[in-house]
Amino acid sequence: MQRILILGGGVGGTLTANLVARKLKKQIERGEAEVTVVDLTGTHTYQPGFMYIAMGGERAEKLQRPERSLLDSNVRLVVGEVERVDEATRMVELKDGQRLLYDQLVLATGSRIVLEAIPHFVEEAHHFYTAEAALRLRKALDEFKGGKIVVGIAGMPYKCPPAPLEVTFLVEAELRERGLRDKSEIHFCSPIGRAFTIESVSEMATPILEQKGIELHTFFNVDAIDPQKKVVQSLEGEELPYDLLILVPPHKGAQFLMDSGLAPAPGGWLPTDRNTLQVGGRSNVYALGDATDLPLSKAGSTAHFEAPIVAERVAAAVRGREPKTKEANYTGKVMCFFEIGDGKGTLLQFDYDHPPKPPKPNRVWHLGKIVFNKTYWHTVPRGRV
Ligand SMILES: Cc1cc2nc3c(=O)[nH]c(=O)nc-3n(C[C@H](O)[C@H](O)[C@H](O)COP(=O)(O)OP(=O)(O)OC[C@H]3O[C@@H](n4cnc5c(N)ncnc54)[C@H](O)[C@@H]3O)c2cc1C
Repeated sequence: MQRILILGGGVGGTLTANLVARKLKKQIERGEAEVTVVDLTGTHTYQPGFMYIAMGGERAEKLQRPERSLLDSNVRLVVGEVERVDEATRMVELKDGQRLLYDQLVLATGSRIVLEAIPHFVEEAHHFYTAEAALRLRKALDEFKGGKIVVGIAGMPYKCPPAPLEVTFLVEAELRERGLRDKSEIHFCSPIGRAFTIESVSEMATPILEQKGIELHTFFNVDAIDPQKKVVQSLEGEELPYDLLILVPPHKGAQFLMDSGLAPAPGGWLPTDRNTLQVGGRSNVYALGDATDLPLSKAGSTAHFEAPIVAERVAAAVRGREPKTKEANYTGKVMCFFEIGDGKGTLLQFDYDHPPKPPKPNRVWHLGKIVFNKTYWHTVPRGRV
């Protein structure tokens, strides 16, 4: 019996489980293989929808489904918190004491936000990285009657790199619609020397910021918030006053990965091979999605395109054959829709060798994102696209 253990039932873990179950259907039915997903809550959350709770009338309950309903019937689901991986005995221990053995291990536990890393973040800053926080931001926007809005990034890397720019554009469009634009300043703070990490995207976004009258502050790495003075300070020594502060929270990998020695570097990201997705040279441990240290977008799309590679490699190992070369090497493919505001969007599509060439913003890509969000439950996690 070959045991395939997948930790995390988000985009990456769910899709990988379903693809492996499909490839190993016969082996599972003959009792020669077993696929298990372990997830903290047993509820699958579609996180890109959080932005639309803050900006577009989305409701939190529409963004969740029972994980069981998304999994192939041949996949076993265990709900519980992973506390430890013991590589010597190939065993994963849960907080409730359950112990699960593995032959092939897939790490898909995503990233977590660490608000406490920045003092006063919780009381002073808004964000949209949970449904509750997005709802709170919506209320703050509803109450906003004009003033200074600062959007910044309080730690790299973070989930969905375009999200802070998208929110900035959407807020700007909303203020115009509500007749508040003349009474407001909008400041966008980028931690690096340009508006976005990828140069071609920065070249697309910077003129849009200018045209919309949004002030761009480069090299602004959020360091501290002074709640008395209502200013946000950067590591580089700049201070910006705010009436409404929106910050992307600092992110880290799962604590148990750090504690188990699988993710030894600060940040808790797994050292992952850019092509094979194997962790730290181990032949039977894989990572995908936000949990990796790959210099790519932490995005559902990344996990989506990585899952088939992990599935092919895991299935090949179980069958005792070499993985098919073409299907077993990740090319760095990512594809993300990017909201620009005013019902327009663009598309970022790239891989390791080809940087994105975002098309001129138009209605099609905005609608593409809306349709994708609505159809997600029937497509990505089930392996239908
Ligand atoms: C506001 C926002 C907007 C976004 N927009 C986009 C977008 O437009 N396009 C895009 O591609 N991506 C977007 N993303 C990013 C996307 O949601 C993530 O990159 C994606 O969910 C990562 O998938 P994953 O499988 O790696 O992790 P996740 O989907 O986060 O899943 C990780 C799973 O692991 C579980 N887990 C964690 N620790 C443990 C443990 N110790 N024990 C058991 N289970 C555990 C969690 O409960 C969770 O179910 C957005 C994210 C946010 C927050």
